[in-house]
Amino acid sequence: MAPNRRRRNTPQRATILAKLEEMHTHPTATELYAEVKERLPRISLGTVYRNLEVLREDGLIHKMEFGLADARFDACLEPHDHIRCTGCGAVSDIPATDRPFTPALPTAAGFEVMGYRLEYYGLCPVCNREVARKTG
Ligand SMILES: [Zn+2]
Ligand SMILES: [Zn+2]
Repeated sequence: MAPNRRRRNTPQRATILAKLEEMHTHPTATELYAEVKERLPRISLGTVYRNLEVLREDGLIHKMEFGLADARFDACLEPHDHIRCTGCGAVSDIPATDRPFTPALPTAAGFEVMGYRLEYYGLCPVCNREVARKTG
């Protein structure tokens, strides 16, 4: 298949995308697979992975990578930032309008800057309660 030819949207891929759009937890492929399997009992994890890569290449979803942790997926294409829990890895959305500042885009170093990523991190309410329970 030619690289830029638009791929046929298979029913499996449509189901995976619809499920990801329903979830606002930025699931890993494994978490999404568990949900999709309820609708498509015979689907494999490998198929979910492959379809996620196709959806990402087609610009329909974002893939979020955090170092060595499992990649997470986001079907929300509106500009927004993320906050990640350092305890359990949960990821939530923060509207881009809540950004405390807009960084000046550097023009040095010969780059044409196309964007930037802002990532907040902290403890989610569940982990926060857990810490309070242990220390309190
Ligand atoms: Zn947490
Ligand atoms: Zn998001």
